[in-house]
Parts: sequence; structure tokens; C-alpha cells
Amino acid sequence: MSGNLCPICGKGRLETKHEVRRYGRGIDVTLVNVPVHRCPSCGEEILVIPAIEALHKLIAHDLAHSRGRLRPGEIRFLRTYLGYSSTDFAHAMGVTPETVSRWESKQAPQQMAPTAERLLRLMTLQDKPIKSYGLEDVGAGEQAAPGSLRLRPTAAGWATA
Ligand SMILES: [Zn+2]
Repeated sequence: MSGNLCPICGKGRLETKHEVRRYGRGIDVTLVNVPVHRCPSCGEEILVIPAIEALHKLIAHDLAHSRGRLRPGEIRFLRTYLGYSSTDFAHAMGVTPETVSRWESKQAPQQMAPTAERLLRLMTLQDKPIKSYGLEDVGAGEQAAPGSLRLRPTAAGWATA
């Protein structure tokens, strides 16, 4: 894509850099060596996340195996990974949609019962992934929390960095 005309303004030639990005909302994931195509003319940035399904699977399985309790953003990520709406997830877990929104709320969180959390982890390890994830969930910057998952794209998919 480097050297191509900018698809937004049609004036600049895209320049490619490999950068470090936070990934997801409310999950501790950092992607390294991610190709970012930038237009020097209008400043448009085109982020290329390769093998997105494999990426989500790696993140989801890492969360499913994680020690400690799942946090609101992690519960939301796993629900989305499984392809559930809040309503369908509530149905699958045998709780009300209000309970699901409290599980996923940073402001007024309600911790999942340990059995519910175990069920979510088991469902995740069974894999029913969805194919898309909003690019608005890709954040700028390198400030990763210590111990956060760092992943880099490879020819075969994704590997830990
Ligand atoms: Zn442009």
C-alpha cells in the first residue's frame, strides 16, 4: 500500500511505518510492528490489522486462561468474540440483560459469580468467533500496562512479542 495515492484526498502518497498500538477497549493488549499507512498530505491514517480472526482467538484464549477475575472490558470482549448480543448472552448465561450490563460496566460493576465466569471461559475455549471488530477499538500509543499481552503479526498469523 506504501506509495499508493491516498484514498481520502487523492493527493498524498501513502507512507508506511510499523508502529505499536493498544488494542481493544478495556483489555490489556498491545500490538507491535503493526503496519500503519499515513498520508503526508491530509494526515489520514490507515491501519492494517492482519489475520484479525486469529488475533481475536489468541486474545480470547489468553483471557480464558488468565488468572484472577475477569474485568468488565474483558467480559465484553469475550461476549463479542462469542458473537453474542447482550440479550443473547444474558439468555445463554441465565441472567437478566441488566446483570450483563453491570458485568461490563466500569462505573457500576457487578462481579460475575465464579461459576458464571467459568462458564464464559469454557464457552470461549469452544470458539464461536465473529469476524469483525471495530477499528475505533484500536487506540494510539505505546503505554501498556505491565504484564499486558503483546502481539506481533507474522506470516503465519499472530505471535507473542
Ligand atoms: Zn490524503
